[in-house]
Amino acid sequence: MRAEIITIGDELCRGEIVNTNASWLAGALWDMQITVTHLHSCRDLAEDMAAIIRQAAGRSDLVLLSGGLGPTLDDLTVDLVSELACAEAVVDEESAERMRTRFAGAGVPLVANAERQVRVPKGARVYANSAGLAPGFEVQLGSAQLIAMPGPPRELKAIFNDHLRDRIGELRLARGEKIEYVARRILRVFGKGESHIATALEGLEIGQGESLHYQVKPPETLVKLVVRGASCELAAGQLKTMETGIRERLGSLVYGVDDDSLPAALLRDLQAAGHTISTAESCTGGLISGLLTDLPGVSRNFTGGAVTYSNAEKARQLGVSTATLEEHGAVSEPVVDEMARGVRERFGTDWGVAVSGVAGPGGGTEDKPVGTVWIAVAGPGDEVKTKRYCWPGARDQVRSLAAYWALNLVRRQLGKF
Ligand code: ATP
Ligand code: MG
Repeated sequence: MRAEIITIGDELCRGEIVNTNASWLAGALWDMQITVTHLHSCRDLAEDMAAIIRQAAGRSDLVLLSGGLGPTLDDLTVDLVSELACAEAVVDEESAERMRTRFAGAGVPLVANAERQVRVPKGARVYANSAGLAPGFEVQLGSAQLIAMPGPPRELKAIFNDHLRDRIGELRLARGEKIEYVARRILRVFGKGESHIATALEGLEIGQGESLHYQVKPPETLVKLVVRGASCELAAGQLKTMETGIRERLGSLVYGVDDDSLPAALLRDLQAAGHTISTAESCTGGLISGLLTDLPGVSRNFTGGAVTYSNAEKARQLGVSTATLEEHGAVSEPVVDEMARGVRERFGTDWGVAVSGVAGPGGGTEDKPVGTVWIAVAGPGDEVKTKRYCWPGARDQVRSLAAYWALNLVRRQLGKF
């Protein structure tokens, strides 16, 4: 099945709103193993809309369209599609009745143009809108099915989820397409880049119906596994085998699956060990404690932290010695070492993690260029692990990387227990 998506709206073409409908619909179709061949956007201009609709319907089997179904005069979709389908635009009585009931319930009088948004081309298949007023509808244009939905994302998703998944399945069956079962898994990898991961997976056998691709999503990489099979069970079994093979090669670089996050993975490890952690942050200014406190249920394992941006505060709050600061500078191994020990001891936690770096854009020197970050993790047994990093990039990137790599270093250290 060839599919195209048309999103209509002046605001889209002016860059005022992000076209989430196009990406959401493309993703939803991709999940159904339908590849969208073209994404189009145009203004609320009848001739531009007509040109794109004609082009898409002339070469594709399915055209999904969003926008322009509202009540105002700039909403042209119903009239235009009716014209193209050689049908009259008529009020859909069921939608009109729902609209009247809703307005009566809210005690709001109906204005004359409200009826515009419950019109559809005569003879169209109508899709009730459970999240709003304007219904979606489907007409045949040549050999294509065109399905129009309102622009507000909530309404578009409601119509798609309530009606279109089934309807598109039906259309495919009618075309004699074989529907396959799909099993997927995302392996979340932190600590090595895409090329390293690809190298580690070189030679891995990819069987019939299996596919593997990478998505770099800084600071991590997603390894996406998809298996298509003749039944749910077959696809799931094959996916499990594929996942095991990949995990054998990537080991602890894989911290989680699907919607997991690195902070959540660390929290699980802390919970499993029954350990607590505190943070001492300089250039990250609280990002690490922010990531941890985003997680519900973190309070038993995260006790608190100190944002110590100045040398004076590193000394006052964490007990870093003035001599160390003077001799080595704030961005140095001895200083993060003392910060990590200091926070661990003062907060009375099993782990203390510390970060100090040059986030830029100014402040770099020859031996400590912008992007230089020292991270230290103090753990049980008074052992301190330190690491130096140097990342290219803007201030926000350096700070974000520092926060994640700090969490990762704790995770690695905790893994040794
Ligand atoms: P309305 O009754 O609100 O006029 P409509 O079906 O005519 O609905 P539009 O006028 O195109 O739809 O869009 C209404 C609102 O929906 C826009 O202001 C915008 O906030 C949102 N919207 C429209 N198109 C998109 C899109 N492609 N991606 C994300 N949001 C969108
Ligand atoms: Mg509108």
